[in-house]
Amino acid sequence: MSNLATSESPVPPRTEEVLRVMKQYFGFAEFRPRQREIMTDVLAGRDVLAILPTGGGKSLCYQVPALIRPGLTVVISPLIALMKDQVDELEAAGVAATFLNSSIKGEESRSRLAALHQGRIKLLYVAPERVLMDGMLEDLARWNVSLLAVDEAHCISEWGHDFRPEYRQLAKLRESMPDCPFLALTATATDRVRDDICSILNLRDPMRYVASFNRPNLEYTVTRKSGGYEQLLEVVRRWKGESGIVYCQSRKSTESVAEKLRADKVRAAAYHAGLTPAERNLCQEQFKRDQVDVVCATVAFGMGIHKPDVRFVVHYELPKNIESYYQETGRAGRDGLPGECLLLYNPGDLMKQRHFFAEKTPADRALAEKHLRLMASYAETTGCRRAFLLKYFGEVLAEGTCQGCDNCAQSHETYDATLMSQKLLSCVYRIKERSGFSTGLSHTTAVLLGTENDKIREWQHDKISTYGIGKDQSKEAWLAVGRQLIERGFLVLHEERFSVELTLEGREVLLKRLPVVLKRVVDTRFSGRRYSEPSRKERSSRPKSASGDIICDEGLFNRLRTLRRKLSEERGLPPYMIFSDVALRHMAADKPSNDDQFLAVSGVGQRKLVEFGPAFMEEIRLHEAG
Ligand code: ADP
Ligand code: ZN
Repeated sequence: MSNLATSESPVPPRTEEVLRVMKQYFGFAEFRPRQREIMTDVLAGRDVLAILPTGGGKSLCYQVPALIRPGLTVVISPLIALMKDQVDELEAAGVAATFLNSSIKGEESRSRLAALHQGRIKLLYVAPERVLMDGMLEDLARWNVSLLAVDEAHCISEWGHDFRPEYRQLAKLRESMPDCPFLALTATATDRVRDDICSILNLRDPMRYVASFNRPNLEYTVTRKSGGYEQLLEVVRRWKGESGIVYCQSRKSTESVAEKLRADKVRAAAYHAGLTPAERNLCQEQFKRDQVDVVCATVAFGMGIHKPDVRFVVHYELPKNIESYYQETGRAGRDGLPGECLLLYNPGDLMKQRHFFAEKTPADRALAEKHLRLMASYAETTGCRRAFLLKYFGEVLAEGTCQGCDNCAQSHETYDATLMSQKLLSCVYRIKERSGFSTGLSHTTAVLLGTENDKIREWQHDKISTYGIGKDQSKEAWLAVGRQLIERGFLVLHEERFSVELTLEGREVLLKRLPVVLKRVVDTRFSGRRYSEPSRKERSSRPKSASGDIICDEGLFNRLRTLRRKLSEERGLPPYMIFSDVALRHMAADKPSNDDQFLAVSGVGQRKLVEFGPAFMEEIRLHEAG
């Protein structure tokens, strides 16, 4: 058993100190879920595995303890670009931090090492390969390391999505630092990866903290893709001047979509693995600095970006599995303000995806197919999308519905679909009976509608008894019934050929004429539209709406943003490192006019009060006077 001293007392004595330090440096007065337990356990010297979703606030879990513990905190981080951002952000908050990796050489490296030797640094970010190089272990022994944090800890596992062999070497650290608590952090949900992290890092009786993967401020919508670009443009225009990511399948489409957006006066750029490192870096920098609003990217984009104020993520093409989709959408709304996640869905994309994995081995193809099918079910479900995503990660949405997805927001009515179901199921049955093979949902629908086409003639499906018995309904209505019958398990979609067959249950329904109740949409408006109205301003008079929005004086907010941009350019820092949008919205709501009031704003710590308080309070005063 390890050190559990603090958990004996009812109120962990450290909590107050942690809150004080968190406010002093970072300006936050409240914990995000699990942060308190993680920080106090780490301070008590315990090994911890922290599993928090993207935007859950993992960084603070080691940054705050680092400021409380004597000595140095070492943070292992896989991405060079991210290290620099984290250090810049910490320095802006008045924390002595630095990083070491292959990009830091010669004199600069020596001066950083000197600062470390002199004990002038509280947080050191270091790449995994660097930490095991030339005498670093001996250095660490001298630097009085009191906490070791392993960020993106899933990189250690071959079962994770970004396996990095050099992470494996970190096992050596435990031996050389037997007395130092380890904190491993990840947003990865699978048990296998979690177990790998604990065993490879050799964590000692670690506490595992898992926060909910629900992101209440994100709204999930799926829209049938038709004229996809117009649908995208509608979203981009609605979020004019804000940041967003558009995920595309191919390099070519990232470029063509970005070009169209630019022609429509949107500050857009393309990002994919075919760009040179310098081009990619430029794109990321411009995005971080709000010089580019929309990045059209392949999945290569994202890991290296911690931009907290991404307001929308659009999937222009179908992602390959639920896990990637959740990860990619998770990049929206890290700051807790609303984020829109839109999937433009074209069932034809399924076939395209299948082409991509045609060359895989049979086993890999079967797995890819399984993931793809699940992705299609997500797109086609009439149930709560948030509940669907969470279920994938083994979590149950307590309320069952969320009011934050298109399906929950739209009103559905249930209706007696017994007759339609009978017709459709028997059509599936007759087709198989006639031809000895089954067909897809759209062919089945065509038969029901009495359509004349080549296939129907060739296969003589105009001769079967169900031909034309569904003329009283639209094609869409039949497809909707078909999809729900699949979802309910009365039909099964054949994995490869995309054809539908009766299940045992479906057979039962057909033979015993069992009643079937299905759902249909009452309000058929384009679901994405509801974001445009009511607008942010009109939404509510409450300070914070269900989606996390903070209601404030929009005119003042925009003025403060302009000031922030000016200050950020002067300092060469991304705007969000000066103040987050959350902080600016609080300022524009509370209109602080003295230091105490300014310090009460979420995101304002001591250093930022001194450095930026006067300028922002002056701007607020001018706005109020004018
Ligand atoms: P993660 O690494 O888990 O994705 P980050 O550490 O980048 O999350 O934090 C996401 C955002 O949330 C950051 O902008 C951070 O400042 C903010 N944040 C973290 N903890 C809190 C808190 N307790 N209160 C308010 N904001 C927080
Ligand atoms: Zn929902």
